[in-house]
Amino acid sequence: MGPLQIKELLKTSPEEQSVTLKGWVRTKRESKNAIFIALNDGSTIHNIQAVAEPGQFSPELLLQVTTGSCLKITGNLVASLGSGQSVEVKVQDIQVYGAADPELYPLQPKRHSLEFLREIAHLRPRTNTFSAILRIRHTLAFAIHKYFNDNGFFYLHTPIITASDAEGAGEMFRVTTLDLKNLPKTDEGDINFKEDFFGREANLTVSGQLEGELGAMALSKIYTFGPTFRAENSNTTRHLAEFWMIEPEMAFFELEDNMDLAEDFVKTVIRYALENCKDDLDFLQNRLAEEEKSKPQNERSLPLLEKLSFVVDNPFERLTYTEAIEILLKSKPHKEKKFQYPVGWGIDLSSEHERYLVEKHFKKPVILTSYPREIKSFYMKLDDDGKTVRAMDVLFPGIGEIIGGSQREDSYEKLLERVNEVGIDPETIWWYLETRKFGTAPHSGFGLGFERLVLFVTGMGNIRDVIPFPRYPRSAEF
Ligand code: ATP
Ligand code: MN
Repeated sequence: MGPLQIKELLKTSPEEQSVTLKGWVRTKRESKNAIFIALNDGSTIHNIQAVAEPGQFSPELLLQVTTGSCLKITGNLVASLGSGQSVEVKVQDIQVYGAADPELYPLQPKRHSLEFLREIAHLRPRTNTFSAILRIRHTLAFAIHKYFNDNGFFYLHTPIITASDAEGAGEMFRVTTLDLKNLPKTDEGDINFKEDFFGREANLTVSGQLEGELGAMALSKIYTFGPTFRAENSNTTRHLAEFWMIEPEMAFFELEDNMDLAEDFVKTVIRYALENCKDDLDFLQNRLAEEEKSKPQNERSLPLLEKLSFVVDNPFERLTYTEAIEILLKSKPHKEKKFQYPVGWGIDLSSEHERYLVEKHFKKPVILTSYPREIKSFYMKLDDDGKTVRAMDVLFPGIGEIIGGSQREDSYEKLLERVNEVGIDPETIWWYLETRKFGTAPHSGFGLGFERLVLFVTGMGNIRDVIPFPRYPRSAEF
């Protein structure tokens, strides 16, 4: 179907057979004896080299062959004499699909800053770095579906528009068709949402978990993989306003099972990327090494492939929140008052604390369990002591929290008590509470932020660079 992609052509044995190339020019180089055109179609990080003779084409045509232009080249596949590639194409004919005026085209063959590329997000997929990231992103998404399918999970599509504001996971974006300049009012003077599209207030979802639990109470093992929205004004390198979340939810899983699954799951999908994205990972590894050249040796990160293999090959450290606090209290940065946020039992760990545990203390991924109930969501199962809940966060080097999960409270009475305690009107989640009324079961689940995983695997530093068109405060251009 369609022309053979460059990825395939590069693997084909050269027998002077006629081939057709379609792609975008990365570079054109002219020497006395030949014109070299490096063409890329996005199927691989590698370009294919097309070689034409000087005088073979009119100067008018060659002027249109510039970085960024799109060409159809026919020619013959031959063994390459140059180093760096095994085959090349001896050009017979060039058709210019679309020129790219070098005076105007912003992507020239030189290093552009990631900040600049963010401003031209419509073109940045044409760079080596972003095409590599996008191929890895695809491969990870595929590996995730494959993992769950191979393990008896069903893909459940949970709603994106929701009327429940009970998840409590963050600020929500409102969904409305009301005329903002002419809002209907109630007799009390409030906005009358009864006149809105859904006859009530509606928002974009912050998590598919509550509906995911409904699925697990019927299909046993489900997962969601969809867009998630948070309107929190967090201008960090790890937060987006729109991100993709994977949320498995399993009946008959206790916290231990949940941890085992989370660990096996991330290791398996990272291993899949290692096995299937070698060229792109090599490229990103070199890119990272290049970027870190100016840093002193001890501040440089592990080579990317080494870092990924390490995570895949070693067991994650598992400990309780209480044990983690003890470690932090004994730590050097705490004693020297270097942490920005103070440490003590009961605090919500901030990413500096998480990263200390992962990067300095254990030097490997960590799973923390049994958090104080006050800092976690109402649906988490109470530990026997009544003080902590059966939560589990998976913490990764360079990232901090990558997964948040828990065993869910399956007792109707205890759940209702917590709902009231945190001030949620039980009426608004009557359907959620009914799962505990009718055939309740022990169950667990977690949420993995897809972009945080892509961030880790690609070794990039900013979450805005691992999603094609990032959404963050004051940015929704593309
Ligand atoms: P954090 O404390 O890092 O802000 P959270 O505890 O609010 O995260 P959860 O509600 O537990 O996040 O969401 C589950 C997972 O979704 C997180 O572990 C993380 O990987 C991811 N995640 C959460 N918020 C964002 C965001 N704004 N952008 C990208 N990923 C996110
Ligand atoms: Mn969390």
